[in-house]
This record gives sequence, C-alpha cells and structure tokens, in this order.
Amino acid sequence: MALSESELIERYFRPLGAARADVVLGIGDDAALLTVPPGSQLVVTTDALVEGVHFLPGASARALGHRALAVNLSDIAAMGAAPAWMLLSLILPEANEGWLGQFVIGLAALARREGVALVGGNLSRGPLSITITLLGQVPPGAALRRDGARPGDLLYVSGTLGDAAAGRELVQGQGHGQEQGQEQGQERRQEQAARPEYAPLRERFESPQPRVALGQALRGLASACIDLSDGLYVDAARLLHSSGCGGQIDATCLPLSNALRAYGGARAPQLALGGGEDYELLFSAAAAHATAIEQAATGLGERITRIGTVSEGTGLGVNWSNDATMTAAIPAGFDHFGR
Ligand SMILES: [Mg+2]
Repeated sequence: MALSESELIERYFRPLGAARADVVLGIGDDAALLTVPPGSQLVVTTDALVEGVHFLPGASARALGHRALAVNLSDIAAMGAAPAWMLLSLILPEANEGWLGQFVIGLAALARREGVALVGGNLSRGPLSITITLLGQVPPGAALRRDGARPGDLLYVSGTLGDAAAGRELVQGQGHGQEQGQEQGQERRQEQAARPEYAPLRERFESPQPRVALGQALRGLASACIDLSDGLYVDAARLLHSSGCGGQIDATCLPLSNALRAYGGARAPQLALGGGEDYELLFSAAAAHATAIEQAATGLGERITRIGTVSEGTGLGVNWSNDATMTAAIPAGFDHFGR
C-alpha cells in the first residue's frame, strides 16, 4: 500500500542530513525555528531541477539527490559562506519508494559531508521537480560578491573546466554525433559513452563537487567571486559587468583534464570556455594576495589556475593562442554578454 505524505516524511526526510544544535525546531511543526549565531549574516539561495529541462527522464535518482544540493552549495561557496540549513520542495508524479530511497541516499551523503540539516519543505504530486532552498552564514561584510573586481586584479578558476559539458554530451547524447548521420552518430555515441577513460567526465556532470571550503578560505583575499554554472565566458562576463570592469582570458592557460583533452581534442578549450555546469569558482584578487591565495588552495588540496586579468573599460577578450584554427571559434553563450 502506498505510504501517506506524513509516512514518507517520517521514513525518508526527518532523519536526513547533519544534526545541528542551532536547529531548535526542524521538520514537523508549521515552520522551522533556527538560531542564527550573533554577528552573522544569513546567505540564502534557491535552485530548481526540472525533469525535461535540467535532466532527462530516467536520470539516476541518487545523482539527482546529490546534484540538487550541489548546485545550491556552489552558490553558497561563491558567496564565501558556510552552509547550514536547507528546505526541500519535491514534486513527484508518484510515491515511488525505490526512487525516493536512492534520491535520499544521494542528498543525505552530501548534506552530512557539508554539515547541512534538512529543516523543512514540501511534498506534492505533479511533474518531477526538485527545488532546494539553502541557507548559510557569513561574518558581516565578509561575503564574496560579484561587484568587487578592480582593474589590475588577477582572474583565477578552481578545478578543471569543460568536463561537465563533455559529460553532458556523453550522458545525453549531444555533440559529436550530431555532426554525422543519425545512425552513425548514435552508434558512436553509445560506444563513446561507455569508454572508461571518459568516466571522469560523466562523473563531473552527474556529481558536481562544490568548492565550499575554498569559497570560505577566499574571504578577505578575493575581490569578487562567482560560481560557474553557465560557462566560463558567460559567468566571467557577468562578474566583470557587475564590477564595472573589462577583462582578458588567456585560453591557453585554461585548466583542462586529461579526460577532456582525450575526448574533446581541438574542441577542448571551447568546451572549457563555453560549456556550463562546472560548478567551479571564478574569482578575482589583487596581485598582492596571490601567494596567500595559492597557499590557501594548496592547504585545502584544491587546484586553482590563473587564467586572466581584470582591466579598465568593458568587455571580455579571449586570447586563443597561436593556433590559427582556434581564432574563429566563438564560445557558446557569447551572445549573452552585455545583457
Ligand atoms: Mg551562481
């Protein structure tokens, strides 16, 4: 027999996530009651995953549980904040316990790892969608914003770029295959999607790893920060626009994984510059902080790479290297700039 809403909540959601002393009342009352530490600012963000828009029917429930929280954690990381509490609004076509069990495993593992408690939410019936609202804390005035970059600052990114875009192509069957006949494309796609050397690309798409500790370590060091959800070019343009500056990215410096180089070949820099969903941090910093930033990243075991500079004026230029074949390439999302 199908479980009622309250039975589903008791079984799957009440025990979910980290136990936190600052949760006075969590799931089960009309609203949650939370103790905000004196002298903190609250940081709040929300993000939805909708079937057919953000993921395809049949996507792994466990991966969706992870991803729904990860994309929100990435926004909190980009603010330099510490995540604390989340609300979950889940719309399900049916109360499928097999699906729910896997979803909760993915969500709970990341929530516990990052110290996030589930304090409330909503379950309803309808087309599958997952919306998480995440709250975090930051010392007053210490949050990283998009509008603090200054001419002369250096631009950095964390991790490697373009892996998730390649992973999306592999998982959802886009990219290479479209350039060929339908059947040939399909066969090549299936063969590619199964290749073990591309597993890290699929992993980066399905299970993004938000840079929460790095974001907090950048407080007082970075002048501006944004997380990369829509692609390096578009998100860098957003940061520079918010800061009233221009900038330059050196495409020869982009951090590319070996898996991406193998998969993308000559397209790899384009995937890194134009592909989205990396959930890495892009940040600017005065050159005087370069050593402290590199030490902080090393201490956390995080890779960071200098990829460009902030300048006077407006607009974002890309230096595509000496490779003449790349000069004509315009990254996806180019048209978004300036909107
Ligand atoms: Mg963001």
